[in-house]
Amino acid sequence: AHLDRVAAVDGAVHAFLHVDEDAVLAQARKVDERRAAGEELGPLAGVPIAHKDVFTTTDMPTTAGSKILAGWRPPYDATVTARLREAGLVILGKTNMDEFAMGSSTENSAYGVTRNPWDGQRIPGGSSGGSSAAVAAFEAPLATGTDTGGSIRQPAAVTGIVGTKPTYGGSSRYGVIAFASSLDTPGPFARNVLDAALLHEAFSGHDRMDSTSIDRPVPPVVEAARRADVTGLTVGVVKEFGGDGYQSGVLARFNEAVELMESLGAKVVEVSCPHFSYALPAYYLIAPSEASSNLARFDAMRYGLRVGDDGSRSAEEVMALTRAEGFGAEVKRRIMLGTYALSSGYYDAYYGKAQQVRTLIARDFDAAFGQVDVLVSPTTPTTAFPIGERADDPMAMYLADLCTIPANLAGTAAISVPCGLAEDGLPVGLQIMAPVLGDDRVYRVGAAVER
Ligand code: GLN
Repeated sequence: AHLDRVAAVDGAVHAFLHVDEDAVLAQARKVDERRAAGEELGPLAGVPIAHKDVFTTTDMPTTAGSKILAGWRPPYDATVTARLREAGLVILGKTNMDEFAMGSSTENSAYGVTRNPWDGQRIPGGSSGGSSAAVAAFEAPLATGTDTGGSIRQPAAVTGIVGTKPTYGGSSRYGVIAFASSLDTPGPFARNVLDAALLHEAFSGHDRMDSTSIDRPVPPVVEAARRADVTGLTVGVVKEFGGDGYQSGVLARFNEAVELMESLGAKVVEVSCPHFSYALPAYYLIAPSEASSNLARFDAMRYGLRVGDDGSRSAEEVMALTRAEGFGAEVKRRIMLGTYALSSGYYDAYYGKAQQVRTLIARDFDAAFGQVDVLVSPTTPTTAFPIGERADDPMAMYLADLCTIPANLAGTAAISVPCGLAEDGLPVGLQIMAPVLGDDRVYRVGAAVER
């Protein structure tokens, strides 16, 4: 049924970069065989899933949305991919994304734009926009994404679905093509909170292949999603997020969601997180710095594309030609920004300062969670914007992640759940944030208020 749906709508949506019908059916048959052989499979066995094209897969290409990885076949599966195969999920295909996960609209993909199923002239969010569009368009019931600054929560919000950024280190980065290693966090997309929790539980937990993976039990997210109540909880509304620059319909739905929590028995208080206003500038020093280092591995020798290797050029020349042609404009911008911020003489003033701001943001969270159980805000300042509107204006694009970036800098858990439609008829997301390893709280509250 999902393959039929993909065939019917993906020409218009373009959520997928790769779908191989025979391979999908072969995987499904294998799940049947495992069951017939008496194997005990988990609750998601046989359920189709779409993977963001940043997770390595041995039987399918992996491009990270970049021309520089065209034609590359990974020799190993990401831990997330491997665990979900083991659990019997069937991989439908790989989804479109902003190149190396840099963007908020999926317009930075080297493989064309993805359209928002609610309005084909609008963006599906990014960088995991292929995954959000696939789930919102009923092409896949579940999908994976990665969230470095908002790339799961923002696309979930603007397509009217659920997306979670787990606690950093709660899900393995092994086999996830790196953007900013201290921020990258794999997480689930689904059409409701309980489905997202089931997927979260299926791929999370300690992985010795990722040195930043947390060796502690996975928070009880499925139990929390089933519990779905806010009774006795204190909810903090982040004072710094709202007001000027926020769409009126976004604020209206957000305020209703807060009233709903109050009516369901939560105590609501306003909380100030004074350093959250500096999260965006700090992020745009830290993330490009890490990216400039991570992307050095694309040297024309090891993976995918190689340009000008005709025997007449040196390795350095081939490398330069390949990187000039293989990387898109946004990726080049970040490599230059990051290289600059890390260079001697500027390191302390830029990268060092940004790391200090990061500590202050983590302290804001600590102080807030001394008073409240969860923090809430709109997920994004506006609903889905038109394709092309922000493509030539990086600052306008970066603002889409204003409310999501603090959780990445501090490594805390956060979810976006649908909270109704704005005045323009487009979906609005409610962001719920909890402390490190408090992932169960975001599911408990999210399941109580999702619409
Ligand atoms: N939009 C942000 C960026 O461009 C976040 C992307 C992400 O979370 N991968 O960096």
